[in-house]
Amino acid sequence: MLRMNDAPGSWSNWAGNVTCRPGRVEYATTAIEVADVLRRARDAGRRVRPVGSGHSFTPCAETDDVMLDVAAMTGLDGVEHLEAAPPGARPETCARVWVRAGTTLGALNSVLASLGLAMPNLGDVDGQTLAGAVSTGTHGTGLHFTGLAGFVSALRLVLADGSLVECSREEQSDLFHAALVGLGAFGVVVALRVDCVPAFRMRAEERPESLDAVLDRIETFPTEADHVEFFWFPGTDRVAAKFNTRLAADDDSGRPLPAWRRRLEDELLSNDLYEGVNRLGATMPRLVPALNAISARSLSARTYTAASADVFVSPRRVRFRETEYALPIEAAGEVVRELRRELDRRRMPVTFPLEVRFAGADDAWLSTGFERRNVYVAAHQYVRADHRAYFEVVEDVFAAYEGRPHWGKMHRLDAARLGELYPRFADACRVRAQVDPDGLLRNPYLDRVLGPIDA
Ligand SMILES: Cc1cc2nc3c(=O)[nH]c(=O)nc-3n(C[C@H](O)[C@H](O)[C@H](O)COP(=O)(O)OP(=O)(O)OC[C@H]3O[C@@H](n4cnc5c(N)ncnc54)[C@H](O)[C@@H]3O)c2cc1C
Repeated sequence: MLRMNDAPGSWSNWAGNVTCRPGRVEYATTAIEVADVLRRARDAGRRVRPVGSGHSFTPCAETDDVMLDVAAMTGLDGVEHLEAAPPGARPETCARVWVRAGTTLGALNSVLASLGLAMPNLGDVDGQTLAGAVSTGTHGTGLHFTGLAGFVSALRLVLADGSLVECSREEQSDLFHAALVGLGAFGVVVALRVDCVPAFRMRAEERPESLDAVLDRIETFPTEADHVEFFWFPGTDRVAAKFNTRLAADDDSGRPLPAWRRRLEDELLSNDLYEGVNRLGATMPRLVPALNAISARSLSARTYTAASADVFVSPRRVRFRETEYALPIEAAGEVVRELRRELDRRRMPVTFPLEVRFAGADDAWLSTGFERRNVYVAAHQYVRADHRAYFEVVEDVFAAYEGRPHWGKMHRLDAARLGELYPRFADACRVRAQVDPDGLLRNPYLDRVLGPIDA
């Protein structure tokens, strides 16, 4: 049943850096209700923004008009088990699963596990909705894996005129390639067809290393396991390196992480105590180098085995702001060396490590991975500390390497620059003008990053 709230309070994203006061919030549970919301808004001359879990750091879902919440559109709409992987899909693909847009990644992982299935790859957390995550190009790490959008083979969308369309690489392929990482600018996604793989386990190996040791082998580093990443604490030479190796679902060769160790390391050290470290650093920035040295020294090696989602995802309760760019993988070493030079020179008071990940190319026109293998470099700053000078420095470095910013993370680029970074940008804008000529789904962030609608 369609619910609405005509006098909603203010809305804020996960990080608290974007707040707005929507004129109305509509809660849709079906595609028909989504179409009804869009038609009524259009007739009343209003604008609409779909919203997921609000985990984006950019004002992509912000609105002072109609906010369309699809959080109640959850669960599966159908499962097709396959004899063989369809053309273009990962070779181990064994099922195509229609997932409703508001399903969180956490809920999706649970339901897939109950079917003996899994997402091929995931990012760090699972609170995002599938539609929100895919719409902004959410990714994890793994040179032979794309971001989440690369596993989506079809979309059901309600367009601005209220019509329901299904698109894929075969059907309405321009709409599919434009709308897949589409920021909710091409229509409201009501369901996504995900190409899933058999459930699998992973062996996680985490160990401290020196930054120089990683940089010395940066060309081969991403191939040292299926999913590789590292975190570098600015002002130190220490990194926390993570190597995750895929295992069969029935592989019982490894040991799980003891519950006490998970509580100690992932809850207490990485969250509760870390909050205290960050608070101290924010109030006394001169302590930051010493705090980072302690954080970096507290890293210890560990190896454990668990279900894939339990290795990919970890709790992140310390709130931060983030910028992240995708850069050509060949530039990885140069970019990290230059960041080290710039950050060391300025002695920036940053208590969060830089996160460095790798991913393969995909074919979504607005995906950071469009036809390019990337290194992803993310800078985080604690919410109570000023992020501006820090993000400016890292963005200046990224700018020199054709950096494509994550659509859901803070950045300063506009449509003119993004048009140079995405070869099919103009095609995406053409499709947008066809499906939303009157700008029903516009907001100021979309105006900035996609430009005016040229119908
Ligand atoms: C703690 C934390 C960890 C993170 N980790 C990662 C990570 O590891 N990797 C990574 O790449 N990113 C990561 N992110 C970023 C996050 O994945 C993205 O910002 C994602 O978009 C958030 O999903 P959401 O459901 O919160 O969407 P929202 O932020 O609510 O919305 C995102 C965009 O999607 C649009 N949208 C939402 N629903 C629909 C719909 N049904 N139809 C059409 N458009 C829609 C919105 O209009 C908006 O433009 C992280 C963010 C946080 C806060």
